[in-house]
Amino acid sequence: MKKKITIRIKDPRLRRVRNELRKLLHEAESKEVIQKIEIQSKLKESPHFWDKEHPQYNSLRKEAQKLASEIDILETYYDSSIIKCPVCMRIDKDMTYNPVLKEWFCMECYEANRKFEIIQGKPDLYP
Ligand SMILES: [Zn+2]
Repeated sequence: MKKKITIRIKDPRLRRVRNELRKLLHEAESKEVIQKIEIQSKLKESPHFWDKEHPQYNSLRKEAQKLASEIDILETYYDSSIIKCPVCMRIDKDMTYNPVLKEWFCMECYEANRKFEIIQGKPDLYP
């Protein structure tokens, strides 16, 4: 998206549906990340993970790196999604897209950040 946009839902029933969907997506993302972290922890519990001379050392390290990369990708997508505000972390707010930062913020945090950046002399960060 190239321009600032705000998505507001006024109908309370639709708001509830939106919030429940966001909650489901948030829980799915958290569950996926936790599973990957648990697998990483198990890999690191193996003595072979720390023994450079062991034949499994390289494959264990490679698997741990792959998991770390997958976690990074999941968190990057999640952080830049419309699911939650990256400032207040709420998932039940109407959201505004910042085309400069390529992130969604709740309307209140967007406005607070915009005022702050104007004072900081960087009004272009929050159009
Ligand atoms: Zn917020």
